[in-house]
Amino acid sequence: MTSQPSQGKLILLTGPSGVGKGTLVEELLKRHPEIWLSISATTRAPRTGEQDGKQYFFFNKDSFSELIENGGFLEWAEFAGNFYGTPRKPVEECLALGRKILLEIELEGARQVRKSFPNAFQVFLAPPSLIELERRIRGRDMDSEEAIQARLERAREEMDAKHEFDAIVVNDDLSLALKELEKFMGFESF
Ligand code: ADP
Ligand code: 5GP
Repeated sequence: MTSQPSQGKLILLTGPSGVGKGTLVEELLKRHPEIWLSISATTRAPRTGEQDGKQYFFFNKDSFSELIENGGFLEWAEFAGNFYGTPRKPVEECLALGRKILLEIELEGARQVRKSFPNAFQVFLAPPSLIELERRIRGRDMDSEEAIQARLERAREEMDAKHEFDAIVVNDDLSLALKELEKFMGFESF
């Protein structure tokens, strides 16, 4: 049986760095404040303007490892030299309350969640092309050249895995991509 958007309240959004996940999630939350977005923990340094507890919880490697050992992550993965993880407790609490939950995570984490929550609906957000993806990463002007290269290398691996997902949304025209995402999250189109 194919997965249906209505099956679960847990929605995963995965896609290469720079594809526009953050931009789309921001729009989704503005339009649907009832969505609960999981805030991840990371060992990556904050980018200009990022605040602890808002975009991420910024951890050092020791405290991140401690949380791994204590089973505090629903999933975690290494990405481009840093660790990222979804704190378990708030997700479980929101699931128990029947809320719509959105996780924005990379491929390895998505694979872990697929095992523990087979009813989660997994969306892969793809760029119109790798050239456009590179243009967006560089245009964002937030990463070092080394970080850009690491992200582009990982992007190719992620793109190869896109057919593992329940749905693929191409983020070419932002408003069309938003509409598609809304559909998969069970919102009517406006
Ligand atoms: P991610 O969260 O996936 O790393 P961002 O949301 O930070 O990506 O987007 C990367 C860059 O691409 C940003 O500068 C953003 O404004 C731009 N962007 C996002 N979606 C589109 C789109 N549909 N068309 C053109 N540029 C976009
Ligand atoms: P960035 O450093 O650009 O914010 O994020 C890099 C990558 O880490 C993105 O693909 C993003 O989706 C992913 N990511 C963010 N939070 C998590 C998380 O909690 N778990 C996993 N596995 N990946 C995450």
